[in-house]
Amino acid sequence: MSEDRFTFIVDGKKVEATQGQTILEACDAAGIYIPRLCYHPDLEPAGHCRMCTCKIDGRRASTCTMSAVAGMVVENNTAELNADRRILIEMLFVEGNHVCPSCEKSGDCELQALGYRLGMVAPTLPYLWPKRKIDATHPDIFIDRNRCILCSRCIRASRTADGKSVFGFEGRGIQMLLNIDTKGRLDETALQAADKAAHVCPVGCIVVKRSAFHVPYGNRPFDEKPIGSDIEARRPK
Ligand code: SF4
Ligand code: SF4
Repeated sequence: MSEDRFTFIVDGKKVEATQGQTILEACDAAGIYIPRLCYHPDLEPAGHCRMCTCKIDGRRASTCTMSAVAGMVVENNTAELNADRRILIEMLFVEGNHVCPSCEKSGDCELQALGYRLGMVAPTLPYLWPKRKIDATHPDIFIDRNRCILCSRCIRASRTADGKSVFGFEGRGIQMLLNIDTKGRLDETALQAADKAAHVCPVGCIVVKRSAFHVPYGNRPFDEKPIGSDIEARRPK
Protein backbone atom coordinates (compact mmCIF):
# COMPACT_ATOMS: atom_id res chain seq x y z
CA MET A 1 0.00 0.00 0.00
CA SER A 2 1.42 3.45 -0.90
CA GLU A 3 2.32 5.93 1.81
CA ASP A 4 -0.83 8.04 1.52
CA ARG A 5 -3.12 4.97 1.56
CA PHE A 6 -4.62 3.57 4.74
CA THR A 7 -7.54 1.43 5.85
CA PHE A 8 -10.58 1.86 8.04
CA ILE A 9 -13.57 -0.37 8.84
CA VAL A 10 -17.11 -0.08 7.43
CA ASP A 11 -19.75 -2.53 8.64
CA GLY A 12 -17.01 -4.95 9.66
CA LYS A 13 -15.16 -4.77 6.31
CA LYS A 14 -11.75 -3.25 5.68
CA VAL A 15 -11.89 -0.28 3.25
CA GLU A 16 -8.89 1.41 1.66
CA ALA A 17 -8.75 5.19 1.46
CA THR A 18 -6.42 7.96 0.30
CA GLN A 19 -5.47 10.97 2.43
CA GLY A 20 -8.05 13.72 1.86
CA GLN A 21 -10.89 11.42 0.81
CA THR A 22 -14.16 11.71 2.67
CA ILE A 23 -15.68 8.55 4.15
CA LEU A 24 -18.37 8.64 1.48
CA GLU A 25 -15.85 8.99 -1.36
CA ALA A 26 -13.73 6.12 -0.05
CA CYS A 27 -16.83 3.93 0.33
CA ASP A 28 -18.01 4.80 -3.19
CA ALA A 29 -14.65 3.73 -4.58
CA ALA A 30 -14.77 0.51 -2.57
CA GLY A 31 -18.29 -0.38 -3.77
CA ILE A 32 -20.07 0.37 -0.49
CA TYR A 33 -23.19 2.47 -0.94
CA ILE A 34 -24.02 5.07 1.68
CA PRO A 35 -27.45 6.63 0.99
CA ARG A 36 -27.30 10.33 0.06
CA LEU A 37 -29.48 13.07 -1.43
CA CYS A 38 -27.73 16.43 -1.31
CA TYR A 39 -24.33 14.99 -2.26
CA HIS A 40 -23.30 15.26 -5.92
CA PRO A 41 -19.84 14.17 -7.05
CA ASP A 42 -19.29 17.37 -9.08
CA LEU A 43 -20.23 19.76 -6.26
CA GLU A 44 -18.73 20.73 -2.94
CA PRO A 45 -20.40 18.66 -0.18
CA ALA A 46 -22.96 20.44 1.98
CA GLY A 47 -24.02 17.93 4.66
CA HIS A 48 -27.63 19.23 4.42
CA CYS A 49 -29.82 16.18 4.02
CA ARG A 50 -28.38 13.97 6.80
CA MET A 51 -29.09 10.88 4.70
CA CYS A 52 -25.42 9.86 4.67
CA THR A 53 -25.17 10.06 8.45
CA CYS A 54 -23.32 7.04 9.83
CA LYS A 55 -22.00 6.13 13.25
CA ILE A 56 -18.29 6.84 13.33
CA ASP A 57 -16.57 5.35 16.34
CA GLY A 58 -20.02 5.39 17.94
CA ARG A 59 -20.95 9.00 17.10
CA ARG A 60 -23.23 10.17 14.30
CA ALA A 61 -21.75 12.38 11.55
CA SER A 62 -22.28 13.18 7.86
CA THR A 63 -19.93 11.03 5.83
CA CYS A 64 -19.99 13.40 2.82
CA THR A 65 -18.14 16.04 4.83
CA MET A 66 -16.00 13.98 7.20
CA SER A 67 -12.56 12.82 6.12
CA ALA A 68 -11.66 9.16 6.38
CA VAL A 69 -9.08 8.48 9.07
CA ALA A 70 -6.95 5.37 9.52
CA GLY A 71 -8.52 2.82 11.87
CA MET A 72 -11.89 4.52 12.29
CA VAL A 73 -14.90 2.23 12.66
CA VAL A 74 -17.98 3.18 10.63
CA GLU A 75 -21.50 1.72 10.91
CA ASN A 76 -23.58 2.34 7.80
CA ASN A 77 -26.01 -0.36 6.76
CA THR A 78 -27.68 -0.99 10.12
CA ALA A 79 -31.37 -1.37 10.97
CA GLU A 80 -31.19 1.66 13.27
CA LEU A 81 -29.60 4.04 10.74
CA ASN A 82 -31.82 2.85 7.88
CA ALA A 83 -34.94 3.37 10.03
CA ASP A 84 -33.82 6.95 10.69
CA ARG A 85 -33.15 7.47 6.98
CA ARG A 86 -36.61 6.12 6.17
CA ILE A 87 -38.17 8.69 8.52
CA LEU A 88 -36.18 11.47 6.84
CA ILE A 89 -37.48 10.31 3.46
CA GLU A 90 -41.04 10.21 4.81
CA MET A 91 -40.66 13.76 6.11
CA LEU A 92 -39.54 14.97 2.68
CA PHE A 93 -42.56 13.31 1.08
CA VAL A 94 -45.12 14.84 3.46
CA GLU A 95 -43.49 18.28 3.61
CA GLY A 96 -43.88 18.68 -0.16
CA ASN A 97 -46.47 17.54 -2.68
CA HIS A 98 -45.27 14.42 -4.45
CA VAL A 99 -47.56 12.73 -6.95
CA CYS A 100 -45.21 10.17 -8.43
CA PRO A 101 -47.53 8.57 -11.02
CA SER A 102 -47.81 11.90 -12.87
CA CYS A 103 -44.30 13.19 -12.27
CA GLU A 104 -41.82 13.44 -15.13
CA LYS A 105 -39.01 12.28 -12.85
CA SER A 106 -40.60 9.01 -11.71
CA GLY A 107 -38.14 6.16 -12.18
CA ASP A 108 -35.21 8.59 -12.30
CA CYS A 109 -35.89 10.31 -8.97
CA GLU A 110 -33.45 9.84 -6.10
CA LEU A 111 -36.07 10.56 -3.43
CA GLN A 112 -38.49 7.99 -4.83
CA ALA A 113 -35.68 5.47 -5.37
CA LEU A 114 -34.42 5.87 -1.82
CA GLY A 115 -37.95 5.39 -0.53
CA TYR A 116 -38.07 2.07 -2.36
CA ARG A 117 -34.59 1.03 -1.29
CA LEU A 118 -35.30 1.80 2.36
CA GLY A 119 -38.63 -0.01 2.33
CA MET A 120 -40.97 2.96 2.61
CA VAL A 121 -44.40 1.80 1.47
CA ALA A 122 -46.39 4.94 2.33
CA PRO A 123 -45.63 7.82 4.71
CA THR A 124 -46.73 7.17 8.29
CA LEU A 125 -46.61 10.91 9.05
CA PRO A 126 -49.48 13.32 8.27
CA TYR A 127 -49.33 15.12 4.91
CA LEU A 128 -48.89 18.87 5.21
CA TRP A 129 -50.12 19.73 1.69
CA PRO A 130 -48.21 23.02 1.48
CA LYS A 131 -49.09 25.63 -1.15
CA ARG A 132 -45.97 26.13 -3.23
CA LYS A 133 -45.48 28.03 -6.47
CA ILE A 134 -44.47 26.71 -9.85
CA ASP A 135 -42.59 28.86 -12.37
CA ALA A 136 -43.08 28.19 -16.07
CA THR A 137 -41.92 31.62 -17.26
CA HIS A 138 -38.57 30.47 -18.65
CA PRO A 139 -38.63 29.33 -22.31
CA ASP A 140 -36.49 26.25 -21.57
CA ILE A 141 -36.81 25.38 -17.86
CA PHE A 142 -39.74 24.63 -15.59
CA ILE A 143 -39.72 24.72 -11.78
CA ASP A 144 -42.22 22.95 -9.54
CA ARG A 145 -41.38 23.77 -5.92
CA ASN A 146 -43.89 21.17 -4.73
CA ARG A 147 -41.19 18.59 -5.42
CA CYS A 148 -38.22 20.52 -4.03
CA ILE A 149 -36.41 18.77 -1.16
CA LEU A 150 -34.15 21.76 -0.38
CA CYS A 151 -30.95 19.84 -1.09
CA SER A 152 -29.14 22.97 -2.38
CA ARG A 153 -27.53 21.18 -5.32
CA CYS A 154 -28.89 23.80 -7.75
CA ILE A 155 -27.68 26.61 -5.49
CA ARG A 156 -24.14 25.20 -5.31
CA ALA A 157 -24.05 24.39 -9.04
CA SER A 158 -25.28 27.84 -10.04
CA ARG A 159 -22.78 29.56 -7.78
CA THR A 160 -19.64 27.51 -8.39
CA ALA A 161 -20.05 25.75 -11.76
CA ASP A 162 -22.12 28.39 -13.60
CA GLY A 163 -20.90 31.50 -11.78
CA LYS A 164 -24.43 32.93 -11.67
CA SER A 165 -26.06 32.45 -8.22
CA VAL A 166 -29.54 32.15 -9.71
CA PHE A 167 -30.91 30.18 -6.75
CA GLY A 168 -31.00 30.56 -2.97
CA PHE A 169 -33.22 29.72 -0.01
CA GLU A 170 -35.74 31.98 1.69
CA GLY A 171 -37.45 31.43 5.05
CA ARG A 172 -36.49 28.99 7.78
CA GLY A 173 -37.44 25.53 9.01
CA ILE A 174 -40.64 24.12 7.56
CA GLN A 175 -41.29 27.45 5.77
CA MET A 176 -38.02 27.31 3.82
CA LEU A 177 -38.41 27.58 0.04
CA LEU A 178 -36.27 27.70 -3.06
CA ASN A 179 -35.82 31.33 -4.05
CA ILE A 180 -35.05 32.49 -7.59
CA ASP A 181 -32.62 35.38 -7.81
CA THR A 182 -33.79 38.69 -6.41
CA LYS A 183 -36.40 39.30 -9.10
CA GLY A 184 -38.22 36.06 -8.37
CA ARG A 185 -39.07 34.99 -11.94
CA LEU A 186 -37.07 32.40 -13.78
CA ASP A 187 -37.24 34.16 -17.18
CA GLU A 188 -35.65 37.27 -15.65
CA THR A 189 -32.55 35.36 -14.50
CA ALA A 190 -29.41 34.39 -16.42
CA LEU A 191 -30.26 30.67 -16.12
CA GLN A 192 -29.80 28.67 -19.34
CA ALA A 193 -30.77 25.10 -20.17
CA ALA A 194 -27.10 24.14 -20.60
CA ASP A 195 -26.20 25.32 -17.08
CA LYS A 196 -25.08 22.77 -14.52
CA ALA A 197 -27.81 24.04 -12.18
CA ALA A 198 -30.47 22.85 -14.61
CA HIS A 199 -29.20 19.26 -14.49
CA VAL A 200 -28.36 18.37 -10.89
CA CYS A 201 -31.78 18.30 -9.24
CA PRO A 202 -32.27 14.85 -7.64
CA VAL A 203 -36.07 15.12 -7.93
CA GLY A 204 -38.55 16.54 -10.44
CA CYS A 205 -38.36 20.18 -9.32
CA ILE A 206 -36.09 21.62 -12.04
CA VAL A 207 -37.04 20.17 -15.41
CA VAL A 208 -35.65 21.13 -18.81
CA LYS A 209 -38.61 21.69 -21.12
CA ARG A 210 -39.10 19.45 -24.15
CA SER A 211 -36.97 16.75 -22.51
CA ALA A 212 -39.84 15.19 -20.57
CA PHE A 213 -40.82 11.57 -21.19
CA HIS A 214 -38.08 10.98 -23.80
CA VAL A 215 -37.39 7.80 -21.81
CA PRO A 216 -40.70 6.03 -21.08
CA TYR A 217 -41.75 4.87 -17.61
CA GLY A 218 -40.41 1.37 -17.02
CA ASN A 219 -37.10 2.01 -18.82
CA ARG A 220 -35.65 4.55 -16.41
CA PRO A 221 -32.53 3.96 -14.29
CA PHE A 222 -34.27 3.08 -11.02
CA ASP A 223 -36.97 1.05 -12.82
CA GLU A 224 -34.13 -1.27 -13.83
CA LYS A 225 -31.97 -1.36 -10.68
CA PRO A 226 -32.17 0.04 -7.12
CA ILE A 227 -30.40 3.28 -6.38
CA GLY A 228 -26.79 2.59 -5.35
CA SER A 229 -26.44 -0.45 -7.62
CA ASP A 230 -23.87 1.32 -9.79
CA ILE A 231 -21.69 1.87 -6.73
CA GLU A 232 -22.20 -1.65 -5.38
CA ALA A 233 -21.19 -3.07 -8.77
CA ARG A 234 -17.64 -1.80 -8.04
CA ARG A 235 -17.30 -4.11 -5.03
CA PRO A 236 -14.67 -6.79 -5.64
CA LYS A 237 -16.25 -10.23 -6.04
S1 SF4 B 1 -40.02 14.33 -7.47
FE1 SF4 B 1 -39.71 12.13 -7.14
S2 SF4 B 1 -40.79 11.69 -5.24
FE2 SF4 B 1 -41.53 13.68 -5.98
S3 SF4 B 1 -43.32 13.24 -7.24
FE3 SF4 B 1 -41.58 13.24 -8.62
S4 SF4 B 1 -40.94 11.10 -8.72
FE4 SF4 B 1 -42.23 11.29 -6.92
S1 SF4 C 1 -34.68 22.57 -6.87
FE1 SF4 C 1 -33.84 20.49 -6.86
S2 SF4 C 1 -31.63 20.83 -6.71
FE2 SF4 C 1 -32.59 22.74 -6.07
S3 SF4 C 1 -32.82 22.64 -3.85
FE3 SF4 C 1 -34.73 21.88 -4.74
S4 SF4 C 1 -34.47 19.67 -4.90
FE4 SF4 C 1 -32.43 20.53 -4.61
